[in-house]
Amino acid sequence: MEAAKELKRILISETPKHIGEAVKLAGWIDVRRDHGKLVFLDLRDMSGKVQMVVLPNHPEATVVAQSLRSEWVVEVMGNVNLRPEKLINTEQPNGAIEIEVLSITVLNEAQTPPFDISSDGKEIGEELRLKYRYLDLRRTRMQKNIRTRDKVITFFREYMHRENFVEIETPMLMKGTPEGSREYLVPSRLEKGKFYALPQSPQQYKQLCMVAGFEKYFQIARCMRDEDLRGDRQPEFTQLDYEMSFVVQEDILQFTEKMFFEIVQKLFPDKQISQTPFPRITYKESMEKYGSDKPDMRKDKNDPNELAFAWVVDFPMFEKMDDDTIQAAHHPFCSIKEEDVEKFMRGEDLFNIRANSYDLVLNGYELSSGSIRIHKEEIQKQVFKLLNISEEEQKEKFGHMLEAFTFGAPPHGGFAPGIDRVVMLLQNEPNIREVIAFPKTGEGRDLMMNAPSSGFTKQIAELGLRIVTEDKK
Ligand code: ASP
Repeated sequence: MEAAKELKRILISETPKHIGEAVKLAGWIDVRRDHGKLVFLDLRDMSGKVQMVVLPNHPEATVVAQSLRSEWVVEVMGNVNLRPEKLINTEQPNGAIEIEVLSITVLNEAQTPPFDISSDGKEIGEELRLKYRYLDLRRTRMQKNIRTRDKVITFFREYMHRENFVEIETPMLMKGTPEGSREYLVPSRLEKGKFYALPQSPQQYKQLCMVAGFEKYFQIARCMRDEDLRGDRQPEFTQLDYEMSFVVQEDILQFTEKMFFEIVQKLFPDKQISQTPFPRITYKESMEKYGSDKPDMRKDKNDPNELAFAWVVDFPMFEKMDDDTIQAAHHPFCSIKEEDVEKFMRGEDLFNIRANSYDLVLNGYELSSGSIRIHKEEIQKQVFKLLNISEEEQKEKFGHMLEAFTFGAPPHGGFAPGIDRVVMLLQNEPNIREVIAFPKTGEGRDLMMNAPSSGFTKQIAELGLRIVTEDKK
């Protein structure tokens, strides 16, 4: 026992290597089963679960064990024993062993959790799960989702580095980039009355990284969009954002396709990609045939392991809004398809002008958008002109881009797969909130921290702001 106290804590996953030895473990009580003289405890840590038994010949440990409740935090000394043949549980990772408890120390007690943590959680109301997200994340399914997400991000990072990309962090406080959504604004204290915008994506910065000569940029980028309630969206989400110089559309499509093929093979070997190379369809064909620009091309929609990737290409450059105004269909930095350049320069037939822009679709979800960009000042100015942006406004909003293009901007293009969606689809989860550690509700609220919140009177005064309408909530 004394010797055991000197032991270093090991993880539950390491216990099978210590059969016949004393070990020190620490974690949470998952379940306690009191059989009178015998107390069974399931212990849980970051690496998994193991069954422990407290025998009557350890009276002190028995007393402690009987007082334990689910989610209490304990440290345990015990012997790792092989279970008798007939008690081996082949369904569980540590089902062949059992820890015979020698002593237990309670490190912290816990209130009864507001919901069951040992289930997959799908039966529990989501608002409650989000309010106690730190408890919800303890469940096996959520641990798996968040750890898989880390594996996916690690894969992308390694893949990019292997391909010679450099990861560059671009600012969160910026001037904004038009991607069709409302921007979040951050008031400046030093320059009262002025605002930063939070990035809808690093679009402009990544293009400026190309002008800066990095040639291959990537970033695990957080994007912020202040959208109204619309399906499975989050006000902030994560993209694998990348950009390359001296490439044509085909290079980006092939590069991306290889990357998705490899991630499925390496991390999700049970999944099957229905068609390689990924089928390609133009936007026009897709709309005509499927009535959507996100066609679901699965052969069997009930097969949870089928992955039907597809490229949708030749998106229109411009779209007509409900109020008859014109907008860039994707963003104003996409280049125009060679065949449509003349019309574009003449400013004719605008809604039939196609861009060198492409989407990657998976099982009916848009995974990513990208394009070959404009890298010449006069072409960029023509786009702005057709979007009815005056010379003055162009200069004010995008002067830095127009100017950068006059200093030797290389041809370039890129792509930005949404990481939340990739993980959601590969983990067969029904929405992205299941693969984000601390998501917001559809109304944009963080129910755990209770944000957004009021009560910033001093800061608001310092910022030179005045609230004119009170939020009624
Ligand atoms: N910035 C674009 C987006 O967020 C992606 C791209 O064009 O690379 O959709």
